[in-house]
Amino acid sequence: MNKRESAEFLDRGAYVLLIHLEKNRCLRIGKLGKLDFPAGYYAYVGSAMQGLRARVERHRKKRGKKVHWHVDYLLADENARIVATYLFPSPNRNECQVAEKVKGSDGVQIIAPGFGASDCRSRCRSHLFYLGSNRPFCREIIKDVAPPKLGVRSYARRRKACGYI
Ligand SMILES: [Zn+2]
Repeated sequence: MNKRESAEFLDRGAYVLLIHLEKNRCLRIGKLGKLDFPAGYYAYVGSAMQGLRARVERHRKKRGKKVHWHVDYLLADENARIVATYLFPSPNRNECQVAEKVKGSDGVQIIAPGFGASDCRSRCRSHLFYLGSNRPFCREIIKDVAPPKLGVRSYARRRKACGYI
């Protein structure tokens, strides 16, 4: 098994949820309080150091789950849905690195400071990024973020196998 294959079989690391919000919404996000979310696309960066795929499946379930993470409050809104999922398998905590890369792309905005970043070791301002309303632009950003040895294509195959979009 080469390096690339072994990393693909890892079930831990970071993930990015591409979320689409149909309408402008004002939502209460736990202790962060009420925040305004403009309609459009969002990238949420999270991680699971055990059961990466199970975590993503949990996020994709609309009903029957307890609101636990900030992103649960956003996804609980009927106007929000996950339109794509990207996995970044890694043996180490890599979510802040991924978040940093998303943040570094032109046109990306932080509209909810502290979102998903309460227990962040790198003191990120947020793990939720507003990408605007252009879907191809979102794809380009994720492509830029994927580490070169684990290109977006390998995630796409994996997602297909797991029934992801
Ligand atoms: Zn972080």
